[in-house]
Amino acid sequence: MTLSFGNPSLDGLRDTWDAVVVGAGPAGSLAALLLARRGRSVLQVDKARLPRWKVCGACLGASGVETLRRCGLGETLGSIGARPQRSAELLWRGRRATAPLRGMVAVSRRGLDLALAEGAADAGVCQRFGVLARAAPDGGVTLEGSDGRHSVRARAIVMAGGLRSGQRSTGTRVDPKAWIGLGCTSERSGVSEDGLAMVVGRRGYLGRVVTEDGALNWAAAVDPDFVRVCGSPGAAMRAICEEAGSSLCPPLEGWTGTPGLTRRSPARIGAVYAVGDAAGYIEPITGEGMSWALATAEAAVPFVDAAIARGCHHAGWERAHRRLMRWRRARCRVVSRGLRSAVAMGVVMAALQAQSIGQWGVIDRLIGGTA
Ligand SMILES: Cc1cc2nc3c(=O)[nH]c(=O)nc-3n(C[C@H](O)[C@H](O)[C@H](O)COP(=O)(O)OP(=O)(O)OC[C@H]3O[C@@H](n4cnc5c(N)ncnc54)[C@H](O)[C@@H]3O)c2cc1C
Repeated sequence: MTLSFGNPSLDGLRDTWDAVVVGAGPAGSLAALLLARRGRSVLQVDKARLPRWKVCGACLGASGVETLRRCGLGETLGSIGARPQRSAELLWRGRRATAPLRGMVAVSRRGLDLALAEGAADAGVCQRFGVLARAAPDGGVTLEGSDGRHSVRARAIVMAGGLRSGQRSTGTRVDPKAWIGLGCTSERSGVSEDGLAMVVGRRGYLGRVVTEDGALNWAAAVDPDFVRVCGSPGAAMRAICEEAGSSLCPPLEGWTGTPGLTRRSPARIGAVYAVGDAAGYIEPITGEGMSWALATAEAAVPFVDAAIARGCHHAGWERAHRRLMRWRRARCRVVSRGLRSAVAMGVVMAALQAQSIGQWGVIDRLIGGTA
């Protein structure tokens, strides 16, 4: 095991690799692990040291759970203590409804990302965390660690650096009307309910769940202009709860923001294969993103592996990524438009209150995505 979670030193690192994986979120660690299992030499770097918290609703949908199981990581969630979520309580304009969920678990990003990175290390991946990477389409990677810079070369690079890895200069296009993400954690004291609660307002929505470490995990997608008008993220969250008639009391301080969520990025540039959020994102934040990240990592690995074997890169991954994302994109558009539409929300709330759509699995398919 070559794990060095707290060691950003680049000393003694070899200069050439079959693959360099940038990022140790779900996409990066799964891609690194699967490439190492195929016998490839893999270097994985992350600018953060693990374990680390990140903005996320901390709900892994059934399709993500299924991907982990298919990749032989079915035990991981149980060993962390991930908490099954059987229903979500929705609040909108003073109306309350319960949506049944199947196969979703709540799991902290500290716990999940650390466990997946440990799995990659066990598979033989060499890891350096606390190291910033800059990847070039020709396979060059510049690493910046605690002891300076080091350049390495890779036959293929897996870019799994999340939302912030795409840049305008490399073809990333952010929807000009995109809402931003917000997240924070707080102590659970005084809160007896432990299920998933979701509060929907006109200018944003907010989710709260209890993770396996006992903390309350808060996450929201919100119109950035609304945050400006309210004066702070915490004030905006309280305003959304007030509008919905919710008794949830989100913290006023401690929120971290993301850039605009809905965006497109090229799935490959030269030797750089993008997976997870690095290949694009579509709001909503309803238990989808980590599942996408895992699914794209699993799907990209055969293309990356073939490119390493051939020594050249073809357009196969772009086509496969487009196919993989088509249905997911369509579903996410429906959900995010629905969450902004009073008519759609009214219909969904009425149907849930009458218990007429829960049993069809409609909500499962829209939130988190069934396997
Ligand atoms: C508010 C909000 C709520 C969400 N809620 C949910 C939810 O409930 N369920 C769900 O499934 N998804 C949710 N998501 C989406 C989910 O968080 C992401 O889709 C998922 O984390 C993507 O995983 P990833 O591996 O692609 O990237 P990330 O998890 O973002 O990991 C990227 C990693 O790359 C590292 N990195 C970046 N650039 C560099 C660099 N240059 N050099 C080295 N390292 C680098 C970062 O430090 C980071 O550790 C939510 C997102 C938001 C914004």
